[in-house]
Amino acid sequence: MRRKLVLGNWKMHGSRLANAELLSHLLAARPYAADVGVCAPAVYLSEVAATLASTEIRWGAQDVSAHEQGAYTGEISATMLSEMGCRYALVGHSERRAGHGETDDLVARKAQAALARGVTPVVCLGETLAEREAGQTDQVVKRQLSAVIHTLAHCAAEMVVAYEPVWAIGTGRTATPEQAQAVHALLRAQLHAATGDGQRMKILYGGSVKPDNAAILFAQPDIDGGLIGGASLKASDFIAICRAAG
Ligand code: PEP
Repeated sequence: MRRKLVLGNWKMHGSRLANAELLSHLLAARPYAADVGVCAPAVYLSEVAATLASTEIRWGAQDVSAHEQGAYTGEISATMLSEMGCRYALVGHSERRAGHGETDDLVARKAQAALARGVTPVVCLGETLAEREAGQTDQVVKRQLSAVIHTLAHCAAEMVVAYEPVWAIGTGRTATPEQAQAVHALLRAQLHAATGDGQRMKILYGGSVKPDNAAILFAQPDIDGGLIGGASLKASDFIAICRAAG
C-alpha cells in the first residue's frame, strides 16, 4: 500500500507574514494520515525550513538547476538545496515548460541533478488541451516520462511523478477521476516496465484539486496524492485536501 503524499505548490505567492500564518495553521491541524509538504518560492525556503524543523511536514523547491555550479545567474543548485535540508524539487512544471522553454531533456537533467544530491525530483508532466483533443495524451506523457527514465537510468524508481494536465492547472477545470486514473495507470505501467518497481512509486495528480474533488481523485487506485497549486494557499482548503488523502 503506497502512502499518500500531498504537496502544495505556492508558485510565486506568499510573504513572510502569509507564509508564517499558513504554516501555523498547517502545523496546528496535525496529525495527517498522509505525508504533507509545501514547495515555496526559493527566497523563503530557509524560513520555511526553520518553521518546519523537527516536524513531519516536508518542504521543497519549485525548481532546481541542471548545473552543479558556475556562471548561471539566478539559478539554484541541487547541492545548495540539499545543504538546506530540502526534500523535494519540482521539475518540469508546465509553467516552466511553457514560459521558460524547458524541454524534456532539460527537465530530465534537472531531475538527475536533484537525485544526485539526495533531493527527490517531483517530475511534472501532462498534455495541453490541444494535445488531448488531438488524441495525443498517451503519446505526450509517455514521451515526457521516457526522457526522464532514460536519463535517470537505474535511479528512476526514486523520483515522484506528478501528472498535471496543462488544461486543468489553475483553470478550475479538473480531469475526471476516470481520465486521471487512465493516465496514471499508463504512467505506472511505463515506470514498472522501466524500473521493475512501479508499484512502489508515487504518482501525484495535479490540476485544480479542491476540497470537494480531492477525495474522489485520491480514491483512484493509481493516484497517490496530489500536487496542489491555488488551493494550497488557503489553509482550510489545503488542510481539507490533506485530510482527503488520509
Ligand atoms: C500546480 O500549480 O501544480 C497546480 C496543480 O495548480 P492548481 O492546483 O492551481 O491547478
